[in-house]
Amino acid sequence: MKTALILDLDNTIYPVTSIGDKLFAPVLELMSEHRQSLSDADYETAKKEILRKPFQKVAEMCHFSEELTEKGLALLRNASYEGPMQPFEDYQSVRELDIIKFLVTTGFTKLQNSKIRQLGIAGDFRKIYIVDPETTEQTKKDIFQFIVKDFGLKKEDLLVIGDDPDSEIQAAVSLGIDCFLFDPEGRYDETAATFRGTSLTQVKELLF
Ligand SMILES: [Mg+2]
Repeated sequence: MKTALILDLDNTIYPVTSIGDKLFAPVLELMSEHRQSLSDADYETAKKEILRKPFQKVAEMCHFSEELTEKGLALLRNASYEGPMQPFEDYQSVRELDIIKFLVTTGFTKLQNSKIRQLGIAGDFRKIYIVDPETTEQTKKDIFQFIVKDFGLKKEDLLVIGDDPDSEIQAAVSLGIDCFLFDPEGRYDETAATFRGTSLTQVKELLF
């Protein structure tokens, strides 16, 4: 039986597309200014992946120059989102579960904190961990291990919920922790995740 959930934030609790245009407009503008330094494929991939993966990962994956990377980091380091935000409708079904919850999210500390505030979800979690690649070498995998240790949990007590096969899902699989790949658009054909589904309402069935 599961006694605790670990949730990802971006594209798991709310859709990044709902704030992406506004939030990433300066970064997209910067990318278009540096268009010549990027191949067509890298430019197109970066425009999409910026909504799904941490900036540093996109920069590496799409071969951003050092200058473009530094300028992008400078833009996002101090960014925050102050507009209204709504969780996914089916997040409510997870929120209502009487189970300990942890939030583990990768990104810029100030920005992640502003999103948590605008979503009004801080009270849902026993503890919130922001893995900021600018300030720590730690990964989600490290944080999952801290949670197990610090809260006296067993791996089988936990279920990790996230949308990114390369991030929290991979970390959970490598540690032998059960995980649910939330894939509302049916983006992934194959997954190493223990469970997968298109709705967060399915989580409830996985706790026993
Ligand atoms: Mg995510």
